[in-house]
Amino acid sequence: METLLQMMKNKNAVKFVILSVLTIVLASIVYVDYFSRTPPPEGALRVVKCSGCGDQGVKMIKDINDRRDPKCICEKCKKPLGYAFKCDNCDFEYPVIPVEKPPAGEMAKMKTMAKFTYVLQERKCPNCGSVSTTPISVEKK
Ligand SMILES: [Zn+2]
Ligand SMILES: [Zn+2]
Repeated sequence: METLLQMMKNKNAVKFVILSVLTIVLASIVYVDYFSRTPPPEGALRVVKCSGCGDQGVKMIKDINDRRDPKCICEKCKKPLGYAFKCDNCDFEYPVIPVEKPPAGEMAKMKTMAKFTYVLQERKCPNCGSVSTTPISVEKK
């Protein structure tokens, strides 16, 4: 305790402590952000499908929810594009438009299983209701 008090008296030491704490906090934010984020910041080549006309193509997508990005809008019918998914159960192909995550507070209240089903619901097959679905990979195209 005494050393801490002595440090508090020394303004430079206090600054140093604050800076170190900030660095750790910032580093962990970047770390968590990096691992929780699915689309890479520079974009990824994804198979996309139109929610209107079903037109399918391969595009470099940064954020599929960015409606100002012309790459996220169908060239033919101007409807929003989603990631092309295929049902493992019935082979049905459909677009998945990721929904906004609930606010952090609400997400924290959710049980692990609820979080899990929440994620699964997003990609559920609209044809047979199966949750065993996979994004169509660019390699297969
Ligand atoms: Zn379309
Ligand atoms: Zn299905």
